[in-house]
Amino acid sequence: MFENVKKLRLILGDQLNEKHQWFNRVESDTLYVLAELKQETDYVKHHVQKVCAFFLAMHEFSRSLESKGHRVLYLTLDETKDYSDLNDLVCDLISKCECKVFEYQQPDEYRVHKQLQSLSQTVGIVSNCYDTEHFFIEHSELRDYIVPQRHNRMELFYRKMRKQFGILMEGDSPLGGRWNFDEFNRNKLTASDIAALPQALCFENPTSDILARLHVHKVETFGEIGETIIWPINGEQAKQLLVYFCQVGLPDFGKFQDAMTCNSPHAWSLYHSRLSFALNIKVLNPRDVIDAAIDAYYENKSSISLAQVEGFVRQILGWREYVRAVYWVNMPEYETQNALGARENLPSWFWNGETKMACVSQCIKQSLEFAYAHHIQRLMVIGNFALLAGIDPQQVDDWYLGIYIDALQWVELPNTRGMALYADGGWIATKPYSASGNYINKMSDYCRTCHYNVKDKTGPSACPFNVLYWDFFGRHEGKLSKNQRLSFVAKQWAKKTPLEKQSIHESANKLLENINEL
Ligand code: FAD
Ligand code: SF4
Repeated sequence: MFENVKKLRLILGDQLNEKHQWFNRVESDTLYVLAELKQETDYVKHHVQKVCAFFLAMHEFSRSLESKGHRVLYLTLDETKDYSDLNDLVCDLISKCECKVFEYQQPDEYRVHKQLQSLSQTVGIVSNCYDTEHFFIEHSELRDYIVPQRHNRMELFYRKMRKQFGILMEGDSPLGGRWNFDEFNRNKLTASDIAALPQALCFENPTSDILARLHVHKVETFGEIGETIIWPINGEQAKQLLVYFCQVGLPDFGKFQDAMTCNSPHAWSLYHSRLSFALNIKVLNPRDVIDAAIDAYYENKSSISLAQVEGFVRQILGWREYVRAVYWVNMPEYETQNALGARENLPSWFWNGETKMACVSQCIKQSLEFAYAHHIQRLMVIGNFALLAGIDPQQVDDWYLGIYIDALQWVELPNTRGMALYADGGWIATKPYSASGNYINKMSDYCRTCHYNVKDKTGPSACPFNVLYWDFFGRHEGKLSKNQRLSFVAKQWAKKTPLEKQSIHESANKLLENINEL
């Protein structure tokens, strides 16, 4: 295996991009290495489907490279168990094959970036780092787009991206004469909409071999898993999911983007693409996803409106590229931000969904079952609760990083610490995404079966989101009342009598003292 190897190239689990220039030519003296590592299974506690999906996809990728004539070394946990970490493994392989060059692609996570940067300085042979050739913006150019430690408007970033890459443009103007079609999107689901929800396309990728290895190596995981997992683990499956989404999901994507229901077996997926895992491990390229959605629009204008396709393109060309840029220009400071001084512990029911709050229970149980929740479930239900209750951002980050199939720190952290918790003080969001039960009731049918009453603001039956909402504002009045976007809330708070404010604080304190019983 190690004979005549001059160059060792490392491929990380989220760098499965077959279109990368590395693979344009077969070089007989280049050895590609992919490795299952305890350092990656253990840096937080992960959902078992996430670990399986990563390892399955890595193995598939190695087989695919081999079938094209590349030399590949795939190491399972059995073979890497005696290495302390990634660097230990790479150093040993370099010494075994006596190669002259070590190459890797720019990691997307800061943690791994620092590790490989330090390795390349100490490894004692020539070391080269390549761009991953996945994102629209090259890693070296991120600072041209985002200024560190301040708010950069996503909308302006997105417009710049549309112009620069000529996406949904007519000359210098946006297609259809406007940049944003939000007012045509974000509807609630009616009963007939719920009856018409499509079935999700799911794959059947076997898990038994990997589960056996996780057991042998005592990898601690959580969440549910069966004999197969539904997530796409190679380019072919990812493309099938993309085609299915363009036919079935895209026509109603934006319209029901923010909707939630508990009254359908398809409630967990709705019209969402579920492409984030395939995108984040790079078996799918964001340009191909955008092209497919735009082609589908031109081919089916009678069923797919511009509002739907623009809403989808905005997520990928806008939000996805934007959060990555915000992450990189603000690391490592980002991961310690706690602008609101949140200190509460994560409630125990985050790990089993056993809470009387129907909305939170539904979203967490679904996450445990599928390793997936859609954006509004992550932001306005689970994240909103963590924000209002003042849960320590580190604990919240670790939970999000562990539970979701698509969770990698570059995208998880700005969304969780920034968008959901406002712990960055506004680098991502112009104001906290705090909402009372009223919002959840408007966008879902969760409240109908809840133990709590969404109309009640005080007393034992009061919706906890209502109780915490005003207390949250009161606790952070000093910081939040200066925010112009919250001036209406500030005025309402100011109208409350000292006695009312006192009673709100007392109810909220009581609730927080018994948070595990909610
Ligand atoms: P769709 O709804 O079909 O959207 C299409 C694509 O747009 C997604 O696949 C994704 O690539 C992209 N996208 C949409 N919104 C965002 C966003 N806010 N940031 C970045 N990309 C976006 N996304 C992750 O990929 N990994 C995470 O770890 C992650 N953590 C999150 C944590 C919180 C608290 C919140 C509020 C959001 C998080 N998101 C994360 C963003 C978003 O929720 C997921 O990308 C989306 O739910 C994935 O499902 P989907 O593929 O069906 O997305
Ligand atoms: Fe959630 Fe409150 Fe509605 Fe219950 S009443 S489902 S806790 S918003």
